[in-house]
Amino acid sequence: MRVPAHAPRVEERPVPTLSVTSPSRDPRPGYAGLPADALAAWFAEAGEAGYRAKQVADALWTGRAATFDEVRQLPSALRARLADAFRASTIVATDVRPADGGLTGKALHRLDDGRSIESVLMRYPARGGRRARTTLCISSQAGCAVGCPFCATGELGFWRDLDAAEIVDQARFWRHELLATDERLTNIVFMGMGEPLLNTDAVLDAAAALSDPTRFGLGARHLTISTSGVVPGIERLIALAPQYTLAVSLHAARPALRSLLVPLERRYPATEVVAAATAYAEATGRRVTYEMVMIAGINDTPADAHAAAELLRGRLAHVNLIPMNPVAHTPWQPSSPDRIEAFANVLRAVGLHTTVRRNRGVDIGAACGQLAAELAGAPTPAAVARRRELLVDRSADALRLAGSGVG
Ligand code: SAH
Ligand code: SF4
Repeated sequence: MRVPAHAPRVEERPVPTLSVTSPSRDPRPGYAGLPADALAAWFAEAGEAGYRAKQVADALWTGRAATFDEVRQLPSALRARLADAFRASTIVATDVRPADGGLTGKALHRLDDGRSIESVLMRYPARGGRRARTTLCISSQAGCAVGCPFCATGELGFWRDLDAAEIVDQARFWRHELLATDERLTNIVFMGMGEPLLNTDAVLDAAAALSDPTRFGLGARHLTISTSGVVPGIERLIALAPQYTLAVSLHAARPALRSLLVPLERRYPATEVVAAATAYAEATGRRVTYEMVMIAGINDTPADAHAAAELLRGRLAHVNLIPMNPVAHTPWQPSSPDRIEAFANVLRAVGLHTTVRRNRGVDIGAACGQLAAELAGAPTPAAVARRRELLVDRSADALRLAGSGVG
């Protein structure tokens, strides 16, 4: 088990909680969110040589230093001035929990205003000719306003957008941690808390920093932006045509059912989302990933599989079927492996490349927002019962509509 390398550091840090301890924000900008020219201007104004800026960048972006004080090549006066002007990291404290025998690490990061966000590290050993991967899942918002009922973050509600530094600092945290075990991040996915394309400015700035060879330096193709289907956000991506992978959380092709699972369907219907995603695929030449969380008896029927096959056939697409991670407030269960395989076969029959994802970190609640939900305090049994009852009613309505051909 490799993760215990993190353990001593965790003990040194205060364990974060969800309670808001300090509502006032730290006025110093986070270093990682600043454009390179703004930093160069600061160094010039401070009367410092340009190579000093590079020394700071080398130490902070490689993960060798976590604070300005650890950039030992700098004179102490400059280290102090930097710390007065910027935060070396916007993350105040982190609690890391290992799972899956050390293959998964789940981090709960506390921010300056006391809010907590999550990132999850997943190690995939080499298999069947595929090289080993270490994928980091990061958050783009504290909470989420979209409110998908199967998602623990959706249940928590929305607190606030993250700024670019807060997004990038999750990756910098892990790069620093992984130095101890000589491991490297190979992929970053925006699949933690939040809807990235409802915080597009900060997400695009963060993605630019993460894929810039002079900053974090991860190849753009190794970065995935996942969206529940915010069409204007996808259109902004089309205009930029970066090499990022776009993932669309489809979950259901039939409108009545998708409205239940992804409430944004009422504003941006799946047909428009898939049209925008197809334009992205054409602009970039990159296949779009369509994600479908598989929920037993809700969206895993042959009718759903055929509807998804019809919607996606002939497109530059890869479909990823994900057994739902059970969450406390829903009555729903993951689809059985047989059901998922049958669903996959319908998609494969029309030529769609389809894979089934194994859930990771279920034992520590590694799905979207689950650890934060746990810390927020368990809802009362009565509240859970009411919520479940409502979902049973609503899903029965949605299935009736979908079955009658209206959906
Ligand atoms: N808001 C964006 C990105 C964050 S959610 C989006 O929805 O795409 C990232 C992924 O986690 C989504 O595909 C979402 O459907 C999935 N997810 C959320 N809750 C889940 C659960 N209980 N089980 C399995 N996957 C879940
Ligand atoms: Fe938000 Fe994504 Fe969760 Fe839906 S699945 S509530 S969009 S984080």
